[in-house]
Amino acid sequence: MLLYNLLRLRSNDTLLLKEQYRSLTRLMQSMYGVIFGVTLTLVVTFYESMPAWIAFPMPGMLTVIVVIRTWHWLAARRRVDVMTSHQQLSAIKSTAFMGAGISFGFALIGLLLMNYGSPAQQALALIMIWAVAVVSAFCLHSVLVAAFGVVLAATFPLSIAFMVSENPTVGKLVPIIVMMTVLIMFVLTELHNSFAKLVRSSENAAQSEALAVHASLHDPLTGLPNRTLLATRLEAMMARKRESGGVFAVHCIDLDRFKEVNETFGHVAGDELLRRVSQQFANACEPSDILARTGGDEFILVQEAKDADAAEALASHLIILMAAPIALESGRVFVGCSIGIFLVNDMAIEPLECVRRADLALYEAKRSGRQRLMFFDATIDDAQRDKQLLRDELRDALLHEELTVVYQAQVCERRIVGVEALIRWSTRERGAISPSIFVPIAEESGLIDALGNFVMRRAFLDSRKMKGLRISVNISAAQIRMRDFVEKVRLIANETEVDPMLVELEITEGLLLGQDPEIRQALDQLRSLGFRIVLDDFGTGYSSLGYLHRYPIDKIKIDRMFVLNMGPDAKYDSVVSAIVGMARALNIDVIAEGVETEAEHMRLLAAGCRDFQGFLFGKPKPLEALLEELNCAHYA
Ligand code: C2E
Ligand code: CA
Ligand code: CA
Repeated sequence: MLLYNLLRLRSNDTLLLKEQYRSLTRLMQSMYGVIFGVTLTLVVTFYESMPAWIAFPMPGMLTVIVVIRTWHWLAARRRVDVMTSHQQLSAIKSTAFMGAGISFGFALIGLLLMNYGSPAQQALALIMIWAVAVVSAFCLHSVLVAAFGVVLAATFPLSIAFMVSENPTVGKLVPIIVMMTVLIMFVLTELHNSFAKLVRSSENAAQSEALAVHASLHDPLTGLPNRTLLATRLEAMMARKRESGGVFAVHCIDLDRFKEVNETFGHVAGDELLRRVSQQFANACEPSDILARTGGDEFILVQEAKDADAAEALASHLIILMAAPIALESGRVFVGCSIGIFLVNDMAIEPLECVRRADLALYEAKRSGRQRLMFFDATIDDAQRDKQLLRDELRDALLHEELTVVYQAQVCERRIVGVEALIRWSTRERGAISPSIFVPIAEESGLIDALGNFVMRRAFLDSRKMKGLRISVNISAAQIRMRDFVEKVRLIANETEVDPMLVELEITEGLLLGQDPEIRQALDQLRSLGFRIVLDDFGTGYSSLGYLHRYPIDKIKIDRMFVLNMGPDAKYDSVVSAIVGMARALNIDVIAEGVETEAEHMRLLAAGCRDFQGFLFGKPKPLEALLEELNCAHYA
């Protein structure tokens, strides 16, 4: 019972148990080998002096046990990793009991032998039987109770019996054997301890290795799989589907307003938001789905969807979830998400290609107005290819200076007081391509630097022919964010000898949203060089009048959206009046753009606007046409 309880203590420790079992599978054959060898030696030694009924059946029985057990442990070697810890524990228990039993039985055989042979043979028999117990104990050192059991089961009966023996040689051995047994038990304890320590340290090493592997495959913020692990799991999913048939869906999910939350509330809130969102996504998934965070605010969800309807249902559910406000510590935020889906029904497609297609669909979903889902189809792929082609053509066009700049008049009291420089590009195959198409491509591909510099140089050079007119140049957010932007503008201005006082740089609200100190510094530097800063498309973004206080802005350009809605919606008339009034109070100029009709012009005048730009006063035109118009003097 004690033995049983001692063993039970170890049963919680599965790794130790496994290593104990492994150690037994390695050493038990040696133990049985020794038992077999000693049995054979004893038979040979006592053969002549022993009656036949002992000399044959006893070693015969022992040999059968030895063969069966040796075979058992040889077979066990292959099963170590598939055995449950419960099975391992019971195998160890039976080994401990059987070990003690065999050892005790052997000692009894030794006792029996004391009736036969010479004193020298008897001493040899005793030492050999005791040596079998010692060797067995060393073989069992990983299971300390079993080792002790084997030694003690042999030593006790042998010692007691020999103490009462009449054989003087044998009698003298008893204290030596008892002393040796104590010593051996001490050595066994040490051996067992270092065995256990080794197992512990290998467990620790395995644990830290497991942690390192986990860290390299998971996103530290949300704990979700990262791109690397996603790729592996996606491949596994495809392999499974190849065997079982069926389809699955890859969803690319992107948060619509994450950047704004991050910039407005700070990174801590951004992190909190990502954790909350990932939790909500995870709750909406089935256990068989794979959810990964693959970028700042981008998630990929691989869904075991049985068809397109199931994929659409999940994506709609996620969009609805994200449309609801999320309460963060710093306040409630509305993020929203867009989703691109690729339904994978051909398992020959590369996993990365599946993700790319879902990503393309996501891009389309965002382009068509956010908070939407979009399935991938071949037309999207064509559009993407076309975009790549356009980018390559644009690169060539910039290299060969095939782009031009046109100028649209800005008027005050029907006199041209300035112009806006607008880029133009046309190719033989495609005809005129709108800047609304190729400027974003230039921004995405880094070509915006070359494009922006080209427009600036051209516009600054042309400005000198425009008799003191103001000239507006559009500046992309991507340009200002470049470190050497201010220096570049200064160099181009010096080179072209333009008067910076005549130059207006048009930026958009998005740039000011982040309250980035570097942007502020760039704007301050540009102003100190003499350039004026204009806030373009005013009213289409966040329309916070707060920017007007916080940033060095000289002029705002009221967007065509306001111009269009004035009249049909009286609210817009009052908003425009308020904007003009406020700007005036802050000493900021106002211009309205996209004025197409006389009615619009009148309403803007009534709201207090004095400067205008739009087709009513002239379409964008090449420099020569503009100069001709200027020479023909004023508008009627
Ligand atoms: P934007 O800066 O708002 O430029 C005004 C756009 O409105 C121009 O379109 C112009 O042709 C158009 N427009 C002018 N008057 C009217 C009107 O009365 N009615 C209507 N419906 N539209 C009018 P465009 O030239 O196609 O340029 C589109 C956008 O591309 C620009 O919008 C600007 O954001 C960008 N862009 C154009 N040239 C450049 C450039 O040199 N650099 C950069 N970074 N962006 C540019
Ligand atoms: Ca503009
Ligand atoms: Ca504009």
